[in-house]
Amino acid sequence: DASIYLSVRVARLGTRYVLLLAEDRTESFRLETVRRDFVANISHELKTPIGAVGLLAEALDDASDDPDQVRRFAHRLTEESHRLARITQDIIELSRLQAADAFTNAERVSANKVVSAALDQNRVAAEARGIELAVKGDKSAQVIGEEALLVTAVHNLVSNAIQYSPDDSRVGIGVRTIDGVVEIAVTDQGEGIPEDDLDRVFERFFRVDQARSRHTGGTGLGLAIVKHAVQNHGGEVRVWSQPGRGSTFTIRLPEASSVARPPIGEPT
Ligand code: ADP
Repeated sequence: DASIYLSVRVARLGTRYVLLLAEDRTESFRLETVRRDFVANISHELKTPIGAVGLLAEALDDASDDPDQVRRFAHRLTEESHRLARITQDIIELSRLQAADAFTNAERVSANKVVSAALDQNRVAAEARGIELAVKGDKSAQVIGEEALLVTAVHNLVSNAIQYSPDDSRVGIGVRTIDGVVEIAVTDQGEGIPEDDLDRVFERFFRVDQARSRHTGGTGLGLAIVKHAVQNHGGEVRVWSQPGRGSTFTIRLPEASSVARPPIGEPT
């Protein structure tokens, strides 16, 4: 909204004048609201799995005479604890990215290495669903950044592409360099995203379909992590989508040779 938050102080100058000091506090109000929402969201997201762990532990205790039930509850307990671990890990990653000093290990990174590592991490999931992972383009490009973080960003996009696609479809990963910009595009033939939600998918904990994302084990933080990781590298991420036909997420990063500042540790 267009409100401005001001903090105002009044000082009397002699008997005739009054000094008004107004400070624009809009930005700090905004940041405080974002922080408060994040904490509220986290509490909400953690409540369900923590509650489930408690109930399952009790059920396990009661079921100790029935080996089948014990196995079933133990399995669900393991699933819920994995879910808690995933959410916690993503929250830590996102908080780290939002901190000013998130990005300390800058080095020259090849796009090829980033894409290959991200694909390796997703191969088993793709094979299990009969989804083909097809890479094309010039992968010789280099960017400056933290390799692990860039791999995480591309991994999240590929993992979503698989997650939200039908069995036996195709996920394409294209790499190209245009005018000093390295572009990594991940295209799927999945369900797509409704136009009204396109702007919101990068928000923390936003899901087009809450129930489905939770059911498939999504934390709702994957794309927020992508956005912050890419922005920390001086880049941007965009999405195009046609409901029912598929989506393309594109990461754009400055090419290494076009970055003025040399990587840390390299002679100037
Ligand atoms: P999640 O853990 O729910 O996948 P993300 O932040 O990765 O969280 O994505 C947010 C939401 O954006 C998802 O819940 C899903 O609704 C939508 N989404 C992300 N990627 C895709 C995709 N490739 N195709 C369709 N919808 C997607």
